[in-house]
Amino acid sequence: MANIAFIGLGNMGGPMAANLVKAGHKVVGFDLVDASREAAKAAGASIAATAVDAVKGADVVVTMLPAGKHVLSVWKEIVPVVAKNTLLIDCSTIDVESARHAHDHATEHNLPSVDAPVSGGTGGAKGATLTFMCGGEDFAFSLAKPILENMGKKIVHCGKGGAGQAAKICNNMILGISMIGVCEAFALGEKLGLSHQALFDVASTSSGQCWSLTTYCPVPGPVPTSPANNDYKPGFAAALMLKDLRLSQDAAKTSGAATPLGAHAESIYDAFEKAGHGGADFSGIIHHLRQIAGK
Ligand code: NAD
Repeated sequence: MANIAFIGLGNMGGPMAANLVKAGHKVVGFDLVDASREAAKAAGASIAATAVDAVKGADVVVTMLPAGKHVLSVWKEIVPVVAKNTLLIDCSTIDVESARHAHDHATEHNLPSVDAPVSGGTGGAKGATLTFMCGGEDFAFSLAKPILENMGKKIVHCGKGGAGQAAKICNNMILGISMIGVCEAFALGEKLGLSHQALFDVASTSSGQCWSLTTYCPVPGPVPTSPANNDYKPGFAAALMLKDLRLSQDAAKTSGAATPLGAHAESIYDAFEKAGHGGADFSGIIHHLRQIAGK
């Protein structure tokens, strides 16, 4: 069993750290927020006073932080002080450039590192059923895999440093675009007098079939477990979808890829957030489409 430092004990990091404790690892956690530290303590982790204190004696350090600037600032503090051969894993969703900088920083200190963003949300974090998309050298990935298996059910090695973040934002760009497409079809069907169930029955077994329709249907009824049946409570908040679409558009600009639908999806979610709906599930974008109809 490993000595693991876990930095960033929020909605995702808290339950992920708890699963490492459950698997028998010795976990030392740190977060800026009292309530997150207390929850991690209640779940069996020890709590350190600073990130630097948390990583003392660690074999593995996991970070689960809001954005690239937080990851780079924490890694800047800890990389020079961790023990030789300590494995660094960043599970946050961040921009590909920052992920590559973080890897470079680790490599300069001869430390193995993996970017390992997740999909599966807070339910997956609690149930240890997350999917991890990993970037890093083969050796670093081979060290990270058994640790990540305590927190997830699918661990994919996508390539070198930053490849995990690249896979994450490409996937979520598909998701953002496809959710808007499904919502547009339901909004058009309503105008044409088509019942939600009839459209679902046809599209879910035809070429319009996709995850946004069959697992996460944005209207109440056809898929009882979708957030539409729970007043569009997340689920996956629209603000997080917007964050990921922004990351995909930053990466498209930097790399010179053409992603016009990704750009349009970003602007639609941006308008939804500005109207005060960032906390709603991202499938609630159907309300925005109904609202702008005819404007
Ligand atoms: P969160 O805001 O609940 O947690 C982030 C935590 O990091 C907070 O508790 C904050 O206090 C802590 N933090 C910030 N700066 C810190 C520092 N310098 N030192 C120590 N702690 C610090 O966010 P979350 O929902 O847990 O998401 C974490 C990451 O996972 C994000 O990058 C997010 O995009 C990604 N993600 C979230 C979900 C989701 O459904 N919530 C799903 C997939 C991926």
